[in-house]
Amino acid sequence: MSKAKPKYIFVTGGVASSLGKGIISASLARLLLARGYSVTIQKLDPYINVDPGTLNPYEHGECYVTEDGAETDLDLGHYERFTSIATSKANNVTTGKIYQSVINKERKGEFLGKTVHVIPHITDEIKRRIQLLANKKIYDVIITEIGGTVGDIESLPYIEAVRQLRYSLGYKNTAIVHLTLIPYMSASGELKTKPTQHSVKALLENGLQPDVLVLRTEKHLTAQVRRKVALFCNVDVEAVMESIDVPTIYEVPLKMHEQRLDEVILGKIDLPCVGEPDLKSWIEFVDKVKNPTRTVQVALVGKYTELPDAYKSIVESFVHAGAANHVKVKLTYVNSEKLSKEHIESVLGKMSGILVAPGFGHRGIEGKIAAVQYAREHGVPFFGICLGMQCSVIEFARNVLGYADANSTEMETATSAPVIDLMEEQKGVTEKGGTMRLGAYPCQLAEGSKVRAAYGSELVYERHRHRYEFNNDYMEQFSAAGLKPVGINPDTNLVEVVELEGHPWFIGTQFHPEYKSTVLNPHPLFASFVRAAVEYSENEKK
Ligand code: GLN
Repeated sequence: MSKAKPKYIFVTGGVASSLGKGIISASLARLLLARGYSVTIQKLDPYINVDPGTLNPYEHGECYVTEDGAETDLDLGHYERFTSIATSKANNVTTGKIYQSVINKERKGEFLGKTVHVIPHITDEIKRRIQLLANKKIYDVIITEIGGTVGDIESLPYIEAVRQLRYSLGYKNTAIVHLTLIPYMSASGELKTKPTQHSVKALLENGLQPDVLVLRTEKHLTAQVRRKVALFCNVDVEAVMESIDVPTIYEVPLKMHEQRLDEVILGKIDLPCVGEPDLKSWIEFVDKVKNPTRTVQVALVGKYTELPDAYKSIVESFVHAGAANHVKVKLTYVNSEKLSKEHIESVLGKMSGILVAPGFGHRGIEGKIAAVQYAREHGVPFFGICLGMQCSVIEFARNVLGYADANSTEMETATSAPVIDLMEEQKGVTEKGGTMRLGAYPCQLAEGSKVRAAYGSELVYERHRHRYEFNNDYMEQFSAAGLKPVGINPDTNLVEVVELEGHPWFIGTQFHPEYKSTVLNPHPLFASFVRAAVEYSENEKK
C-alpha cells in the first residue's frame, strides 16, 4: 500500500464523556504497530481555546508538551506512552485553531469576497488538518480521536467533516470506532443497551455508520447483549467489543486483541492481517505492573493534588519506572499549600522518595521549599521537576548559601537574591499562549554525575515548558557549596540539571522528563529515582 494514501480510523464517543477514547485509540495503535503497520494518532478537540496551554489543570488535566513544542491535550501523552512514537503540533487540533486559520484567511482576502460558512469553510479546514499528517508519507494508518461526545453542538462540524471524508476517501479506506457506555442497573441486575442505541442513532442522523462498537462496562457483556447491540446498531456481532474495567490501562490493548479488534478493524479498512501481533514485551510489562515484588512509597508534592490527571505523565512515568524495578510505586499526593514545617515529619517521614512537581505562581511554593529542605537534610531521594527544581535552588540559597530572602522573581520581584529569574527574551513577552520555552532542547551532562550515569549518554534532548531559569550569576556559589549544575544547554549555557553532592539521590531538572517516558522505554531518571527510593527504604526499613 502507498504511504501517501494512508487509511483513516476515526474514534468517536457517545453516552458519556471520559470513557477512555484516548486509551482505546492508543491501544488500537499499539496493536497495529505490533502487526508491523506504521501508525500515528491525532486528537481533535472541539473547544474554542487555541490550545490547552492557558488552561488551569483543574479544567482539563495536565497540559502535555510535544518534541516540537506544542502544548496539547493529555491524550497525546497516552498516544506516546503506548506507541513510543513522538507526536507533533499537527497531532492536536482544536476548534480555536481551526477558526483562527479560517479567520486569518478571510482577513487576507483569500475567500475572494465570498461569505464564510461552517460548511464548507470550517469543515474544509478540519478535513485539511485531518489529512495533514499524511503529507509525511510515513504512515499506513492515521487514527483520529474526536473529542467530546456525539450529539454535542460543538462536535457537529467534526462529525460532518468525517462524513465528507468517508465519502471522498472511500468506505474501504476509512473506519469508525464508536465508544459508548453500557450501564449496569444493580437493582434489576441488568446491563442496559438503550443509551448505546441512542448514541448510534445520533451518529446515523449525522450520516455516520460506526463499523466497530467498543462498549465500556463494569460487568462482562453476555452474548445476548452483544447480539442485541449488533442488531440495533447495524454492526457485525464480532465488531462489538467489550471494554471492561481493568487494573491497569496498559492491559487494554491485550483485552482488545483477545476480542480480535485488530483483525476486525484491518478487515474494515482492507489491510492484510496475517499471523499474530508481536506483543511479547508488552505482555511482560503488564505482568510486572500486576505482580510487583514489593511497594515503595513516594510523595508527590504539588498543589493540584485533588486531580491526579493534573500530573498524568508523572504518575504514568512511575508506573513505567516501577515495572522496570519490579516494584509498585505507591504515590501519596501531598498538597503543598497545607505542608508546614510543624507537621512535615508526620507526612514525609514515611516516604522513601519525594518528588516536587512542576507548577506556576506563588501559591503552595513555601510548602514545596519545605519538602525540598526535608529531603535534603534527611537524605531522602529527591526529584524536582521544573518548578520543583527551581524550589531546590531557592531552598539551597536560603538555607545553605545564607540568602534568607532568596526567591524566584516569579514569586517575589523584590527579592535581594533572584536565584531563579526571567530569561532576557521573556522580558518583553505579554501574550500568554505558546510563549514559554517549549519543546525539546539539548542538554550536556557532566562526567561523573548521577544523571549522566542514569542516561548512559552525554547529550540528551528533553522537553521544556517554563519562562524562568536558573540565574547563572550565582552558578559558582552553588557549585562551590555542593549543588552542582550538571546539565547545561550547550547552545545557551542555561542550567538544565542540578545535583546535590554527598546526597544519595538529589536531582532537579529544569526540563520535564515525564513527557518522554513510555511503556517500552521507561525514563532513565524515573527508573534511577525509583531504584534509589527502593534502596533508601531497604536501608531505613520503611
Ligand atoms: N513557573 C515556572 C516557570 O515558568 C516553572 C514552570 C513549570 O514547572 N512547568 O519557569
